[in-house]
Amino acid sequence: MSRVAVVTGGTRGIGAAISLALKNAGYTVAANYAGNDEKANAFHGATGIPVFKWDVSDYTSCGEGIAKVEAELGVIDVLVNNAGITRDAMFHKMTPQQWHEVVNTNLTGLFNMTHQVWGGMRDRSYGRIVNISSINGQKGQMGQVNYSAAKAGDLGFTKALAQEGAAKNITVNAICPGYIGTEMVLAVPEKVLNERIIPQIPVGRLGEPEEVARCVVFLVSDDAGFITGSTLSANGGQLFV
Ligand code: NDP
Repeated sequence: MSRVAVVTGGTRGIGAAISLALKNAGYTVAANYAGNDEKANAFHGATGIPVFKWDVSDYTSCGEGIAKVEAELGVIDVLVNNAGITRDAMFHKMTPQQWHEVVNTNLTGLFNMTHQVWGGMRDRSYGRIVNISSINGQKGQMGQVNYSAAKAGDLGFTKALAQEGAAKNITVNAICPGYIGTEMVLAVPEKVLNERIIPQIPVGRLGEPEEVARCVVFLVSDDAGFITGSTLSANGGQLFV
């Protein structure tokens, strides 16, 4: 029987590439999403991967979603916490709502999901968790105090939980993508992308979602069993950490 993997935000952008790469690597995949039914149904139609709607910022909804996935597909061995949002503003203009939405999705979402698969992984002495953080959690980014704080929090979460999971054969790792060509980044005006962002990337281009997905496939594989608490940067040479 193939292992079951859940990818949050797994129907679009980087998450869609992760879902598909895991399916191609032999996993039974469940792709979660928040509300864009049209994109989720199109993804399901194109790939055959089942899609499940719930909000990762809500603990109860995560529990219900996880129970549904496990009833339909089997117990969860692999969790990829990929769902994320931005609500950018300079700090002096940032509203409490912009702060809370970003932190609740990008950081508390990791707690809401991981906490509810952790007991099963411990009982079975096997698990793989991969958290999709960001280069902006490593270096900070003006206009993104909320996002940078949440993504930096993801790295602390990863390092601490890895220590707790180690004796139970559960690995917990993070990936920090640089700029990847998804809707999140392509929403940036073309002039800003071409004149300010891409020139900062030593390889001279945006990353592809599949380039992040391949990192996930490696980190969840048996070959990566000795790698835990690590942060893998995939940023085209932009930041060397
Ligand atoms: P997209 O905006 O393309 O896709 C986001 C996905 O997350 C969608 O499937 C969306 O669902 C889902 N989602 C958003 N909020 C929630 C929620 N509350 N509950 C469940 N699902 C949710 O994002 P990207 O693919 O660009 O980003 C994926 C991850 O990678 C994020 O964590 C992001 O911060 C991180 N990242 C991205 C970078 C980039 O350059 N693109 C760089 C560094 C990090 P729906 O379709 O229903 O809205």
